[in-house]
Order: sequence, then structure tokens, then C-alpha cells
Amino acid sequence: RAKSNGRGRAEIFDQALRTELEVRAKLEADIRAGLASDEFELHYQPVMSVADGNLRSYEALIRWRHPLRGMVPPNEFIPAAEESLLICEVGRWVLTHATRQLAEWTRMDPQGHGDVTVAVNISARHLASPSLVDEVRQALEESGLQPRRLVLEITETVLLDEPTADTHLRALRDLGVTVSLDDFGTGYTSIGQLQKLQVDTLKIDQSFLRSDDPATQSLVKLMITAAHAFNLDVVAEGVETQEQLDRLAAIGCELAQGYYLGRPKSAQETEIVV
Ligand code: C2E
Ligand code: MG
Ligand code: MG
Ligand code: MG
Repeated sequence: RAKSNGRGRAEIFDQALRTELEVRAKLEADIRAGLASDEFELHYQPVMSVADGNLRSYEALIRWRHPLRGMVPPNEFIPAAEESLLICEVGRWVLTHATRQLAEWTRMDPQGHGDVTVAVNISARHLASPSLVDEVRQALEESGLQPRRLVLEITETVLLDEPTADTHLRALRDLGVTVSLDDFGTGYTSIGQLQKLQVDTLKIDQSFLRSDDPATQSLVKLMITAAHAFNLDVVAEGVETQEQLDRLAAIGCELAQGYYLGRPKSAQETEIVV
């Protein structure tokens, strides 16, 4: 009886696994088809200077305009794409379109856009890919965008899990692009390690802004002080209120991003503001 029970469970498990694999395979096929038929788009969220409210950068955030599901946020398909090399195709698409878009905005308005940068999120597997450096170089060449106007956002996990990440980051920085460490504080990088990392900017994760607990506030202040000591710029993510912005100004955080300063908007909507 126990035996047959065990087998029953194994079969159920088997079936569940099969279903999950089928769902994932279907999602991957859909993403691939979506890339081919232009269903993805980038929305742009401003990063502002805390002191004067000037626009410094746009973060490009991918969305999927799915024919049946409507607008699908990245958290619902990027993790699936990250399971395979498909994420490299998605990343290449994002690099091409984001650099092209900023180059076009610069041609439309050289005064207003000359120093603005565009930030692109790069997944761990893509950073480990031997062709990433060439892809970045090609996107810059094709768009005509200066390298210093492209920011690559990576997360801490990348640096720990991928031995090649460090080499690739060096090559990318040699091209002249800037590297930003995204969601800082949620992983395992210690403040001391910051000194050794191949990054230019630190993005403090939005969870730190949520809390008004004094200990968390001190921690944010400490991260900013350390970042400055290592010559890193700091962006605070997830700014939703004037109070949070005031607090950031008081502790010397120079850059901020969040709904209070501007939500991610389509390229078209972004142009209207400009
Ligand atoms: P992220 O890179 O940390 O991007 C910031 C996320 O926080 C965005 O969500 C943005 O819309 C959201 N956000 C910005 N300000 C606020 C705020 O004030 N309050 C709140 N509650 N949220 C705010 P989104 O666009 O849904 O992207 C989620 C994540 O998906 C990104 O986190 C990034 O890890 C990933 N992602 C987005 N686009 C791409 C892409 O093109 N490639 C890759 N590999 N990943 C991407
Ligand atoms: Mg990001
Ligand atoms: Mg982030
Ligand atoms: Mg994130």
C-alpha cells in the first residue's frame, strides 16, 4: 500500500513537472515569436538629479504588448527567458532599440539630450556571453551613440556567480560605457567589496526607501558615504514622496528615480514631455 502510494505521488509529481516544462516551452516559443513580430517595446523612466531636478538618464524597461494578454510586465517573462540563451536575444533587442532611441532623441533635441544617458538592464547569463562586448560595440556603432551615454545595469548575483563577468565588465568599461550595480543591498555584496567591483554607479534598492525605521535610514546613509569614498555615484530607486526626496537630499544622495519623479512611459509619451 505504501509502495503504490509512493508511485501515485511520483506520477503526480511527474505530471506536474511535465506540465511545468510544457508551460515554459510554450512561453519561450511565444517570446521568440514575439521578438520576430515586434511585440516588445521599451518604456523609459527618468533618473533625476536630486539637487536641481535635472534629467540625467532614462532607464529602458521592457514590456510585452501581447496580442492576447495585453501589456505584460517584465517580471512575467524575463525570468523564463533567463532560463535559457533566449535572454541574450532579448538583451540584444533591448540594446539595439535603446541606443537607437536615445540617438534619435538627441538628433531631435541636441540641447536637451546631449548629456542624458540610457540605462539597459543586462541579465547574468547575457553578461557571461562571449558575444556581449561585440553586441554592445555594434549597437553603439549602428546607432551612432557615444559609449559614455550608455549605462549597463547589472545585479550583484552576476558578479558572484559568473567568473567571466569581471573580464567582460573590464572590456565594456574599456569601450567607454558605464556600469551600474542594480538593486544594491538585496544581495551579498558587502560595502567593502564595492571598492573592487568594476562598477561606476550604485543603485540602492527600493526596499530601503520604503522603511522609515532609523536603523534603515542609517544604513542608507552608510551606503552613500561608502559609495562616495569609492568614487561611485548613487541612485536611490523607488522614490515615491517628497519626504523621501528631502531625506535623500539631506544625506547627500545625488540621483533619484521613482514614481514621484516620473513613471516609466512609452517612447511617444516620453517625447511629449521633452
Ligand atoms: P529594475 O531594473 O530594478 O527596475 C526598476 C523597477 O521598479 C521597474 O519595474 C520600475 O517600473 C519600478 N519602479 C520605478 N520606480 C518605482 C516606484 O517609485 N515605486 C515602485 N513600486 N516601483 C518603481 P518594471 O519595469 O516592472 O521592471 C522590473 C524588473 O524587470 C527590473 O527591475 C529589471 O530587473 C527587469 N527588467 C526590466 N526590463 C528589463 C530588460 O530590458 N532586460 C532585463 N534583463 N531585465 C529587465
Ligand atoms: Mg534596473
Ligand atoms: Mg533596481
Ligand atoms: Mg529589480
